Amino acid sequence: MSDCLFCKIVRGEIPSRKVYEDDEMLAFHDINPVAPVHFMLVPKLHLDSLAEAGNEHAALLGRMMLLAPRLAKEQGLHNGFRTVINTGKGGGQEVFHLHIHIIGGGNIPPMVRRN
Ligand code: AMP
Ligand code: ZN
Repeated sequence: MSDCLFCKIVRGEIPSRKVYEDDEMLAFHDINPVAPVHFMLVPKLHLDSLAEAGNEHAALLGRMMLLAPRLAKEQGLHNGFRTVINTGKGGGQEVFHLHIHIIGGGNIPPMVRRN
């Protein structure tokens, strides 16, 4: 059994505030939101990060991308939203199970600040 935090959430061993679930995906609210709406869409299949995805995951990744706007709307984000995928330590990833952050509802600043 995987020790991975999000695998434990997928298996229901750690509670989460569920947004959506089907056979291959789960969406749940971020425990430490950065905006009024901040939830995560994760594949139930464990992949460490986007860097570990291969051609065999193309359809799954496509379905995740298509589901994101649908769930965002259902969460009230009719005006748009931000999607973030942190990949690897260099990308600031903290939980090594692929996930898409879906963020919105507040004042969303520019993603990259130039000094
Ligand atoms: P990342 O930096 O992209 O790996 O994001 C990990 C995210 O997981 C952070 O935004 C955390 O707030 C979130 N997180 C950590 N533990 C939990 C949990 N038990 N339930 C929901 N979200 C969590
Ligand atoms: Zn996992």
